[in-house]
Amino acid sequence: MRRRLALTAAVAALATTLAATPTLAQQGGEQVLNLYSARHYQTDEALYDGFTRATGIRINRLDGDDNGILSRLKSEGAASPADVVLLVDAARLWRAEQDGLFQPVRSATLEQRIPSTLRSDDAGQGPQWFGISTRARVIVYDKARLQPAQVDTYAKLADPALKGLLCTRSGSHPYNLSLFGSMLERNGPEVTEQWLRGLVANMARPPKGGDTDQIRAVASGECGVAITNSYYLARLMRSSKPEDRTVVERVGVVFPDQAGAGTHVNVAGMAMARHAKNRDAALRFMEYLAGDAAQIYFADGNNEWPAVPAVQTKNPALMALGDFRREAVPVSAIGRNQVAVQQMLDRVGYR
Ligand code: FE
Repeated sequence: MRRRLALTAAVAALATTLAATPTLAQQGGEQVLNLYSARHYQTDEALYDGFTRATGIRINRLDGDDNGILSRLKSEGAASPADVVLLVDAARLWRAEQDGLFQPVRSATLEQRIPSTLRSDDAGQGPQWFGISTRARVIVYDKARLQPAQVDTYAKLADPALKGLLCTRSGSHPYNLSLFGSMLERNGPEVTEQWLRGLVANMARPPKGGDTDQIRAVASGECGVAITNSYYLARLMRSSKPEDRTVVERVGVVFPDQAGAGTHVNVAGMAMARHAKNRDAALRFMEYLAGDAAQIYFADGNNEWPAVPAVQTKNPALMALGDFRREAVPVSAIGRNQVAVQQMLDRVGYR
C-alpha cells in the first residue's frame, strides 16, 4: 500500500514536470506540433500519420499559400503557435529568413542527410532552413516548330532566332526570381541583364498565368517555347484526361545546360519557426521528414525528387524524364540574389 502511494506520488511528480516543461504543449495530455504548411497533397495525410504513430505527437496543421503563411507569421509575432513551417522555393525561404521568421537548427542528422547546397547558410548556430524535395526548372517546346538543339540552354532562350516564341509567367514570381538568381550567380550581372533583355525581346505575349498555362500555350501553338517547373509537366504526364494527353504529346522537354553548368534546381523546404513553443517535437518532425520513407512520400506528393541523394524516386513520370545534371549553385545564393534580379527586371521591363 505504501509502495503504491509512493509510486502514485512519483507519477504525479512526473506529470507535474511534464506540464511545466515549456517544450511540451499539453492538449488533453498529448504532445502536439503546430505545422504551418504551404504544401497540401493527398499523400501528406499518410506522411503526417506516420509521424504521429512513431512518436505519439499529434500534428495540428494550418494550410495556406506561401504568402498567407508568411503574413500570418509576421502578424502573430512572438504569440505565433507555429513550430515548423513548410514553404516552397528558395526565394521565399530566403525572404522569410531575412524577415526573422525562422531560427537556426543544429542537427547532425539533417546536416548529414540534406546536401549543403540544398539548405541555407550556417552562420554558426546551424542553417535556418533545409530543402526537403527538389524540382527542376525545365524548358518545354513545340515539337512541330522547334528542334531540341535550339532550346537546350537557358542562354538560347534569348537568341533572336526565337523572337516572338517565348512564354513565361511573371518575371518577379519566385520561381523566375530564383532561376534568374542562379544565372546571376553563374554568369555575373552584365551577362545576366543582357540575357533578361533578350528574353523580353523574344516574348510571344506579355507574361501571364502559371507554369501549367505556359505548357498548355505551347501545345496550343500560341507559344513556341516556355519555362516550367518540372512537377507541372510531370502532373500532366500522369493525368488520364484526354486534353492533358494531347498537351503531353505535342510538347518536348529539355533539361537545360546539360553540357554546361546543369539545370537550375530549387527546393520545397522546412524551417523551425522563430517562436516555436514545441522545439523538441519540431526537431523530431524535421528529422522525420529527412528519413527515407518520408522523403519518398513528400517528394511524390508533388512529383518532385527527394532532397536526400541516396533516396531514389519511384515516380513513373520522373523516371520517364530520366536522370539529369543538376546545377551546383547553392539555393542560399539563389535566394540572396533575388533583390539584385528584381532591379534588373525593372530596368529591362520584364513584368
Ligand atoms: Fe508551384
